Amino acid sequence: MAYHIKQFKQGEIIFHGGDSSDCAYIIEKGQVEIFVESNDAIIDILNEGELFGEMGVLDQSPRSTSARAITPVVLLEVKTEQITNRLAESDAIVKALVGVLLKRFRTMLPSQGMTAKSSNLLDQVESVVEQAGLSKFKLESELRTAINHGDIQTVYQPITDIQTEQITGFEALSRWSHPDRGYISPVEFIALAEETDLIIEVGDLVFSRAIELLSQLPKHVFININVSARQLDDDQFLKRVVAKIEQHGISPVRLKLEITETMVVDFKKAKQWLAKCREIGFPVCADDFGTGHSGMEQILELDFDVLKVDQVFIRNMFKSDRYQIIIESIANMAKRLDTKLVAEGVEHEKELKVLQNLGFDFGQGYLFGKPMREEDVIKLF
Ligand code: C2E
Ligand code: CA
Ligand code: CA
Repeated sequence: MAYHIKQFKQGEIIFHGGDSSDCAYIIEKGQVEIFVESNDAIIDILNEGELFGEMGVLDQSPRSTSARAITPVVLLEVKTEQITNRLAESDAIVKALVGVLLKRFRTMLPSQGMTAKSSNLLDQVESVVEQAGLSKFKLESELRTAINHGDIQTVYQPITDIQTEQITGFEALSRWSHPDRGYISPVEFIALAEETDLIIEVGDLVFSRAIELLSQLPKHVFININVSARQLDDDQFLKRVVAKIEQHGISPVRLKLEITETMVVDFKKAKQWLAKCREIGFPVCADDFGTGHSGMEQILELDFDVLKVDQVFIRNMFKSDRYQIIIESIANMAKRLDTKLVAEGVEHEKELKVLQNLGFDFGQGYLFGKPMREEDVIKLF
C-alpha cells in the first residue's frame, strides 16, 4: 500500500474538529497548527518530521481538534491499515510495548465515549500485536534451548586461493535444525539472536569451535567468523577470544573477523574497534562489500585488511556491463590500497577466469565447495 503525499496552501484547513479520522500525517515540509475552531485556541504548533492526527486513528473517534497549514505544507498520509501492517512487521519488543500502551489507552477510552467501531479497531491492532509478538517470543525461547542443548551447528565453507585454486581457509556459518520447523536459515535466526543477547552466546560458541578446529589444521589455514553489532559493543568479547586463542596456541592472523557495513553506524567506535583488532593481530574483513549505501565512506574511514565483494556482483557480471565495470574498479582500488580481495558466491568456471584476470586473492562459492561439517574439513588435510 503506497503512501500518499498531500499538499496544502498557507492558511488551508487540513481537517476540522468532528471530521472522521482514517489517517495520521507526518510533516515533510512546512508548519502546522492544531487548534480548537470554536474559540481559536492554539493547542500545538508542529514542524517538519512531526506526526499529528494519530489519536483519531487509534480510537477511530472523530477528530477532536482542527489542523491548519501555517505555511505551505507537504504531508505524508499514513492510513490506519499501514500502521497495523507496520506493527505486524516490527520488532517483538516494540510490539509488546505498543500492546501494553494500547491496553492502557483502552482503559482511558470509555470516559471519552468509545464507540463499538473503535473497540473493533483496537481489538484488531491488539491481536496483530499479540500473535506476532508471541510467535517470535516462542522462537526466541526455543533458540535459547537449542543453544543450551547444542542444536546450533557450525559448518565451514571453503575459501580458495583464486590463483592456485587451493583451499586456504573457511568461513564459519551457523545452522539450526528445528525439531518441528525443520531447517531455519541463519538469515532468520541470527537476526532474531541479534535482537536479544543470544547472539553473544551463538558468537562465543562459533569462536570456541572454530579455534578448536584451527588447532587441528595446518598452520597456513585460516577461519573467517561473522561478527555482529552487539559483539562490537561487548567490551569483553575480544578478551574472551584472545584467551581462547592463547589457550590453544593459535596465531591471531588465522582468525579473520567479518563485519558488514550496516553494522558500522558510528565510525569513531568502529575505528577504535579496528585499532584494537590490529593491535591483537586479527585481520578484519568488510563483508558483503558494495551492497550498502556508504561503501566509499567506509573504506575511506576504515582500514580493512580484506574486502569481501558481495555475491550480487559475481552473479550479475555477465548480465550487465555495469556490474563488471564496478568489479573492475573495486579490484583496481583494492590493489592500490593494498587490501586483499575475496569474491563471494563464485559458482561458474567463467566467473573464476574473470576474477583471476582481475587479480582477486580469494574466492568462496559453490564452485569451490558448499559449507561442510568439521569432520569433513579435517579429512581434507
Ligand atoms: P554471509 O556472511 O554473506 O555468508 C555467505 C552466505 O552465502 C552463506 O549463507 C553461504 O552458504 C552462502 N553462499 C556461499 N557460497 C554461495 C554460492 O556460491 N551461491 C549462493 N547462492 N550462496 C552461497 P548462509 O549460511 O545461509 O548464511 C547467511 C548469513 O547469515 C551469512 O551471510 C551471515 O551474515 C549470517 N550468519 C551465518 N552464520 C552466522 C554466525 O555464526 N554469526 C553471525 N553473526 N552471522 C552469521
Ligand atoms: Ca560473512
Ligand atoms: Ca557475505
